Amino acid sequence: MIRNAQDMVKALKRSTFSGVILYEGPSMIDGAPIVVIANRIATGSNNEKTGAMVQTFIIRTDMHPLDALKTGADESVCGSCNARPAKDGFCYVNVGQSVASVYGAYQRGRYARPGIDYDRAMLADLFEGALFRLGSYGDPAAAPFEAWEAPVSKAKARNGYTHQWRRFPAFAAICMASCDTEADHIEAKAQGWRTFRIRLASDPIHPREIACPASKEAGAKTVCASCRACGGTRAKAKADIAIIAHGPTARRYELFRARIAA
Ligand code: SF4
Repeated sequence: MIRNAQDMVKALKRSTFSGVILYEGPSMIDGAPIVVIANRIATGSNNEKTGAMVQTFIIRTDMHPLDALKTGADESVCGSCNARPAKDGFCYVNVGQSVASVYGAYQRGRYARPGIDYDRAMLADLFEGALFRLGSYGDPAAAPFEAWEAPVSKAKARNGYTHQWRRFPAFAAICMASCDTEADHIEAKAQGWRTFRIRLASDPIHPREIACPASKEAGAKTVCASCRACGGTRAKAKADIAIIAHGPTARRYELFRARIAA
């Protein structure tokens, strides 16, 4: 078993493992079996919006992520999120690519297991100084809050978003409340959250909000790895964030808004 972070980084660089399992057990949302996997630990990601960050994937262990998507069983990892394809939503994650690839590697035993391949006590050190994304796919609150505490405790910064903010208030410390409407934003603020709100170009920005600086409307000035604003109430940044629906799923967001306005 690997007992310290330096040896784990060496093992990751040698490709002995592709990443580490942070949690394996029941979903806090519905009890179905899920796993939380962290990868890009020694290298960072190439995502053009986030920059170099450790990525984490929250997926069901008992079925392919695309099957979970098609059947609605992705509720175990995404909750009742309005963006889910099962709700004809506007999720931007390409599950057929990165998520399917992570699931395949999980099935091949490519991720180090806590208590078997590595000692969980190293987790804080393993991510010391890292930029850490909670939930590159899946909602962080699908896993117990305790599963994230050690990995983010020494990280330089973290980015996380949860649509489960009504149900799991502890996550306000490390995640933004994902808000799909102005009403969500107002409700989440009343519960003490910092918010990340998706909006239409015609929706006003609130006085306490700023446009995401990586967005087109703010001039695409930076990436998450430099900005580091979306880290919940423990982040240095205190403003709430808003972004205009964009990319291939923007039209779906417009349709969602039309549906709830009808
Ligand atoms: S506000 Fe900053 S951290 Fe949040 S999504 Fe935009 S660039 Fe990333």
